[in-house]
Amino acid sequence: MTDLTAADRRQQLVDMYHEVGACRTCPLGSMRTNAVFGMGNSNADLMFVGEAPGAEEDRQGLPFVGRAGKLLDELLGEIGMTRAEHAFIANTLKCRPPGNRDPQPEEIESCRPYLERQIQLIEPRVICTLDFARIPGLLEQEVTPAEPPPLTAPGPVSAPAEPPQLELLG
Ligand code: SF4
Repeated sequence: MTDLTAADRRQQLVDMYHEVGACRTCPLGSMRTNAVFGMGNSNADLMFVGEAPGAEEDRQGLPFVGRAGKLLDELLGEIGMTRAEHAFIANTLKCRPPGNRDPQPEEIESCRPYLERQIQLIEPRVICTLDFARIPGLLEQEVTPAEPPPLTAPGPVSAPAEPPQLELLG
């Protein structure tokens, strides 16, 4: 648990946003149209983590703006939540792999520090992984959607979900 204020968290995320926008650590940095840093509430208890930006995300520079994103917004709306107010959405990779191919292990390792820093700053209580995102060793505890996370558990827990299973969040 950090003692950062909400303003500190937000400022550090803004600083990282600019850092990611200039990043060329792996070859994907030279292939993207826009880096996709993530969006949402810097103090959210709930964080969604996808695998990597797709074509539309790359074009707009925003996460989950295609059909999956619309579904996510609808499902959040059904439980009275919005992505801007109640969640933070990010990807494991901040740049789109060409042709929407799977991320390579070395790309995941190159980009991993950004996601780790996002999680450390936001300090979500629950992390829901989407699109088969895999973040080995990053989370303290993993649960399945059939076993809801105990919200009193220390540190973030991971609730893997494929898009149709997001309804289980309700
Ligand atoms: S994918 Fe990540 S590490 Fe690679 S260039 Fe983009 S921001 Fe940098």
